[in-house]
Amino acid sequence: MSQETLQEGYFGEFGGSFVPPELQEVLSYLSEQFYKFRDDPAFNEELQYYLREYVGRESPLTYAERLTDAWGGAKIYLKREDLNHTGAHKINNAIGQILLAKRMGAKRIIAETGAGQHGVATATACAMFNMDCVIYMGAEDTRRQALNVFRMELLGAKVIPVDKGQGRLKDAVDEALGDLVQNYKNTFYLLGSAVGPHPFPTMVKHFQAIISEESKRQILEKEGRLPDAVIACAGGGSNAIGAFAHYIDEPGVRLIGVEPDQAPTLTEGVPGIIHGFKCLVLLDEAGEPRKTYSIAAGLDYPGIGPEHSHLKVSGRAEYVTVTNDEVLAAFQELSRTEGIVPALESAHAVAHAKKLAPTLTRDHILIVNLSGRGDKDVEQVFHMLKK
Ligand SMILES: *Cc1c(COP(=O)(O)O)cnc(C)c1O
Repeated sequence: MSQETLQEGYFGEFGGSFVPPELQEVLSYLSEQFYKFRDDPAFNEELQYYLREYVGRESPLTYAERLTDAWGGAKIYLKREDLNHTGAHKINNAIGQILLAKRMGAKRIIAETGAGQHGVATATACAMFNMDCVIYMGAEDTRRQALNVFRMELLGAKVIPVDKGQGRLKDAVDEALGDLVQNYKNTFYLLGSAVGPHPFPTMVKHFQAIISEESKRQILEKEGRLPDAVIACAGGGSNAIGAFAHYIDEPGVRLIGVEPDQAPTLTEGVPGIIHGFKCLVLLDEAGEPRKTYSIAAGLDYPGIGPEHSHLKVSGRAEYVTVTNDEVLAAFQELSRTEGIVPALESAHAVAHAKKLAPTLTRDHILIVNLSGRGDKDVEQVFHMLKK
């Protein structure tokens, strides 16, 4: 797409691949295979089949009538990724990458997970396609997310706790990359967000772009015109880049990414290299990735996808922050007014829409990407509200 410059894997100055030579060889081969199958009609037919029959696409674009009335401004439409099998957008990418893995002859899938959501999506797709599945997870995270560990095991995955370093996501990534270099002949590394070295950001965008491909067609059918803005939460940036993709070349559509105010990567980040690619990154005084915090586990990451970094610097997209209180209020308001309990991540996008909508009129249209459903967060919110 136009935001990708001539140099493969770069978005302006961001992206690229900063990895050891033995890993570079594996990634170059992956890149070649991805471009080959991306344009292969039989591959795409198979992908469409599973998105329809297994994930349940297309997902609706729901007019939120009561919310629109309550906020008294722009018309609000919700893109319902919460209705996908497994309850979020992550399955779109997991199915896409696993079909690619199958074509490449892999028998074994590895992935890393922080809170467990990507691990669950990967384990689900592996069960479905009868692939061996190994999930690396920081030891600390396996304790905090014991139920998700069990869920992955139920789906047939082997979860390996990583004790090295701080026992967090970054350490799990390092272990997974080490595994890939050792076992690349039969193993595929399934990355969960639009981050990492090339070709991952391009590949994850490709498989998530279905979100805006559908929403564009749907809004044209319903309203006969494009929206004024598309709003999505941004952690690593996969649901947001998928929700933006088909509008990037439509200058009349504002693209708005929403971050937690305690992980404001695009608002306060500076260019740097983490996890093998260049992006805007939050650094502390010592120049190390800053400790971030979010009540939404999926948004707790000090980096961001390279294309978002470029969209920010080039001015094509806007990035804003919301507070935990605003997110909790949005979580409850959407539940009460529309009967939809959103993921805490998605509630970030809702919280910003609540600020923007009243500044516009009923002639304006906002699309809010509901990246996932909130069943996983109900217990956490229960404890926060009881406090
Ligand atoms: C993982 C997750 C996110 C954050 O990841 P992105 O790559 O930024 O999309 C957002 N929403 C939900 C529901 C998630 O599970």
